[in-house]
Amino acid sequence: MSQFANYIDGQWVEGASVSRNVNPSNLDDVIGEFAQADAEQTQRAISAARKAFARWSLSTPQQRFDLLDQVGSAILARKAELGRLLAREEGKTLPEAIGEVGRAGQIFKFFAGEALRVGGEIVPSVRPGMTVEVTREPLGVIGLITPWNFPIAIPAWKIAPALAFGNTVVVKPADLVPASTWELVKIIAEAGAPAGVINLVMGRGAVVGEALVSSPDVDAVSFTGSVATGHAIGAKCFASGKKFQLEMGGKNPMVVLDDADLDVAVEACINGAFYSTGQRCTASSRFIVTEGIYDRFIDGMKTRMRALKVGDALADGTHIGPVVDDKQLQQDERYLAIAREEGGTVFGGERVERDTRGYFLAPALVTDTTPVMRINREEVFGPVASVIKVKDYNEALAVANDTEFGLSAGICTTSLKYSNHFRRHAQAGMVMVNTPTAGVDYHVPFGGRKGSSYGPREQGSYAREFYTTVKTAYVSPGVV
Ligand code: NAD
Repeated sequence: MSQFANYIDGQWVEGASVSRNVNPSNLDDVIGEFAQADAEQTQRAISAARKAFARWSLSTPQQRFDLLDQVGSAILARKAELGRLLAREEGKTLPEAIGEVGRAGQIFKFFAGEALRVGGEIVPSVRPGMTVEVTREPLGVIGLITPWNFPIAIPAWKIAPALAFGNTVVVKPADLVPASTWELVKIIAEAGAPAGVINLVMGRGAVVGEALVSSPDVDAVSFTGSVATGHAIGAKCFASGKKFQLEMGGKNPMVVLDDADLDVAVEACINGAFYSTGQRCTASSRFIVTEGIYDRFIDGMKTRMRALKVGDALADGTHIGPVVDDKQLQQDERYLAIAREEGGTVFGGERVERDTRGYFLAPALVTDTTPVMRINREEVFGPVASVIKVKDYNEALAVANDTEFGLSAGICTTSLKYSNHFRRHAQAGMVMVNTPTAGVDYHVPFGGRKGSSYGPREQGSYAREFYTTVKTAYVSPGVV
């Protein structure tokens, strides 16, 4: 059985215990045993990052560019192999997994450039003879806590900007999917990151994550995951004066208007709701459909859903891989049962048997729902979408915004008037027109509003808002 150690202060070190990483497409396939850190080992990683910060924070932009650029090239060169590993541990299909790895590589390339573009401002003072200079400096030690659904892209979009701007990092990947982050950290180490600049501590959230969040030696925490965990982390960070950023859940609407191109709408909805097994924070989970197109839309969806192949993530032709684990599978089924109890009609959503033991679930569409039902209010995080029938655009917009979340929102329409209005009035961090609510570029800001996010946006040039702190310097010539 392959063993995977933690990485602390430039050394691979065993954990206090190990945990098995199992392939959700085939429960007999164990990827390896991964070290589980305890609080003491996590503290050692934090101390190493603190020590390394003294030098790394003064490294030149060229040094940081070179490191990140090399990491990006190494990831891209191993895209197929790393994609296979990712599909094996998380369960998204091989093409989706290779796409995610490619994205991680491009993110490192982008932030290599950002290291050169930090810049600053010279501002004329309101006082005679004085000059004002506004610059950005790194924050210090950053604790990164990531979820299981993007095992390499999310660690990449946190690690790359943290390092680009001169911070040092302790990263804790999700307990379920440590292998992709382990490979990423190995690539960063082999590219020549000085000891302590990047540290990997794998293990349980309640142990490792908790130690990161409560340590006074961690200056900032960037978290992506569920609302409940995010709120608990935010409260602790606030109490200890840490800067923090939270990216959490979604209940993303896709509005389909009478004037939509039906094929475009069905394709956007199938992709947005069911690809990556619906396990995307940006997945469409509420289809809000006007009366005139409703019946044709439902027929089109059912026809496309029947043609979707659910199966082994690594097999050719699979459209939808397995659910990530038994707990998530039970959650998906529980929400389908709740939807039925509340009066909804469920199409699909059965467990699927395949040659291997795995967590296979057919995609599910819930009709006859109203906005108040739990299926339309709570995040399921599986291949499950519900449909709400509405009278017209105005009602559709109101229903779309009737949620505590605000990550991504979409509309399918051929009307310029409605698409413009929706872009301005959808209460979401990201708005999509005639394209799925999930699937974004790597060089522009990512994040939501309302209950989905807290703090500055991630990715693109906006990432510097979180990973740097601003200094304003006043300089007088010193002579009267
Ligand atoms: P989770 O909240 O269970 O876990 C996220 C991370 O937090 C894991 O690494 C976990 O070990 C850690 N953690 C758990 N308890 C902790 C604690 N007490 N202290 C510190 N760390 C702790 O989330 P998950 O199930 O891994 O991921 C699914 C969720 O992530 C969904 O809600 C999804 O919407 C969200 N998500 C959001 C985005 C976004 O950008 N908005 C992106 C991807 C996923």
